[in-house]
Amino acid sequence: MLRLMDKDLKNKTLSELEQITAKFGVKPYIAKYIFTFIHQKDAADINSLTTLSKDLRASLTEAGYFISQLKIVEKLSDPDGTEKYLFQTADGQNIESVLLDERERKTICLSTQIGCRLGCKFCATGYLKFKRSLTAGEIIDQVNTISKDAKCKINNIVFMGMGEPFENYDETLKAVRILAHPFGKNIGIRRQTISTVGIPAGIKKLADEDIHPRLAVSLHAPDDELRKQIVPAANKYPMSEILNALKLYNQKTSRRITIEYCLIDGINDSSECAKKLAAILSPLDTSINLIEYNPHPGCDFAPANREKIRLFKDILTQRGFETIIRFRRGTSIKAACGQLGADRLKEK
Ligand code: SF4
Repeated sequence: MLRLMDKDLKNKTLSELEQITAKFGVKPYIAKYIFTFIHQKDAADINSLTTLSKDLRASLTEAGYFISQLKIVEKLSDPDGTEKYLFQTADGQNIESVLLDERERKTICLSTQIGCRLGCKFCATGYLKFKRSLTAGEIIDQVNTISKDAKCKINNIVFMGMGEPFENYDETLKAVRILAHPFGKNIGIRRQTISTVGIPAGIKKLADEDIHPRLAVSLHAPDDELRKQIVPAANKYPMSEILNALKLYNQKTSRRITIEYCLIDGINDSSECAKKLAAILSPLDTSINLIEYNPHPGCDFAPANREKIRLFKDILTQRGFETIIRFRRGTSIKAACGQLGADRLKEK
């Protein structure tokens, strides 16, 4: 892993590349070439950087530098246009990412970890063994490899795949910065969304950054008691602390926060839950995404009835919340929210 972090040129910001190239006695603009070739032209190895002199390519290689490359193991397509990619990392681990193609909007749902330690009950990834966090280079490479394979320009990123982004805070933020760089993919900060289960320290840290991607927080319940049945992390991070962190985030950034709420039949889909949710969110600037639960093996939850979902939405809308319903997409290939890793639950 250390080799991945230290010598992978895909894992470097432009200023880090400038520091590396300076060691080889070349001008800073060479670093810009390398950065552009890796992130705009998807260069996959140092020898393909033909704008660099042969000597510099040889010196970089001799010093152990390389450009990491995820391998596509499998690609599945749903009739609704969703594509799921299964990748293999350099150390033989698997991660999944999803391409959502909605006319002009090309979104990739990225993974930030291999497995996840948080074990949310409704999420297949939470049932897999946690292996490790991804490097920024590996996070970015999901975008580079998919955009090259699907021959499309990605303009929207959601960090909602496998893993909890705030458990891999530094690499996730580094990936956001590199993806947003005008010499790279140039995907604006406001077109990138970090989705967290609600780790107060991570929310507060993000509030203090100089960049603010969109923030989405998965609540899934209006109180701690119910939330603990769905999101075990609620035992560690009480709702009061999450709400305080969100208030601070609103105040420091003036940004609206998206609340994610997955509706599970008979668990958290009652009118009472909707009213309680509206009450706890009323002091905050939020919009709400209602997500239809996506079943996966190993979990006996069932999706809420669609009538109930509409009623839940009406209650929130009447109380002034901008609320949208995200009905299932990509279910035939297990690419929907909470289904990544569902094909490998036997690893549990
Ligand atoms: S929902 Fe996110 S935080 Fe929860 S187990 Fe799944 S990947 Fe981890």
